[in-house]
Amino acid sequence: MKTLITNIGELTTNAPTPEHAEGGGDLRGTLHDAAVLIDGDRIAWVGPAADAPDADETVDAEGRALIPGFVDSHSHLVFGGDRAAEFEARMQGQKYAAGGIRSTVAATRAATDEELRIRLRGFLDEMLAQGTTTVEIKSGYGLDVATEERLVRLAAEVTPEVTFLGAHVVPAEYADRGDDYVELVTGEMLDACAPHAKWIDVFCETGAFTVPQSRRVLEAGIARGLQPRVHASQLGPGEGVRLAVELGAASIDHGTYLTDDDVTALAGSETVLTLLPGVEFSTRQPYPDARRLIDADVTVAIACDTNPGSSFTSSMPFCIAVAVRDMRMTVAEAIHAATAGGAAALRRTDIGRIAPGMRADLVLLKSQSRVHLAYRPGVPLVDAVWKDGVRAV
Ligand SMILES: [Zn+2]
Repeated sequence: MKTLITNIGELTTNAPTPEHAEGGGDLRGTLHDAAVLIDGDRIAWVGPAADAPDADETVDAEGRALIPGFVDSHSHLVFGGDRAAEFEARMQGQKYAAGGIRSTVAATRAATDEELRIRLRGFLDEMLAQGTTTVEIKSGYGLDVATEERLVRLAAEVTPEVTFLGAHVVPAEYADRGDDYVELVTGEMLDACAPHAKWIDVFCETGAFTVPQSRRVLEAGIARGLQPRVHASQLGPGEGVRLAVELGAASIDHGTYLTDDDVTALAGSETVLTLLPGVEFSTRQPYPDARRLIDADVTVAIACDTNPGSSFTSSMPFCIAVAVRDMRMTVAEAIHAATAGGAAALRRTDIGRIAPGMRADLVLLKSQSRVHLAYRPGVPLVDAVWKDGVRAV
């Protein structure tokens, strides 16, 4: 089955070619009056609409904008309960601290698989409707062997991008015995979770895990064939970025407080810095300066970090709008970070771009320009979504 999407007024490919690059070597690879041919689950052809090949069906984009499906490389979607009261208190002046995670742990342990599954699928539907076609999902609200295993198993039902985050925070029953908990995470818990996961993650932060503890967690995961990614420098500066770079992590996430040495280390590395604008928005923390990172040639991703504590949005368009307004990214940079950047943060070469051979994950906007994603915050601007070549919205 071949589907031609034609009459695309503005096509963001993230795959520039010399003859098509706008303004000479633009990273976004913008084409006008373009068409995209989908063959099965892949993109078969991209080019000027006037040269488009034949297809079994044709979709008229009516001059509107088409972008790659969003790649959300950081989420925590399997949990019970919510923390609306905590959010409300925070908006009235209470400070955010990592320990709030424990209240979600109790609700998650109490929930059945089916309750968690229904919730998870609801979030995924919400995300798809807003243009997100790939989602990474972390565990981390179980913090005991049985519940962590349930969380990675449920996540693996819906995505290949599953992250074991047993080292999210030290659970209440291990208070003041962090090293004992790390022993559990790197032993019995890892044994139970590794078969369902691709990634190992740790929250390397004051109030969560120290640098030596984080190293133990990541190295144990690597030894089991998992690939590292790290939560760090969210609440203050620390050594997490350098640990992530040293261990070849695919991504360090948050990076709200980065030193110049951190930025230099990231710029010379394969590690992506994943910005989470929803977190600063809903914790009232200062925003990291994305301009500083991009100008230093750090690869940047944007993700929603959907979770009940620090960022309960699932909307990539919202995060793009915040990144543009408050992190000083251009709209084109923010969309690149939310697509190709997310793919790099997941070490995926088959998504995040619109080019022959890539997965046909596409988002048709209601507007003629991608700029509307930041210009019209909060407005539903996604008209149609294709996931693996199938019209999903
Ligand atoms: Zn997170």
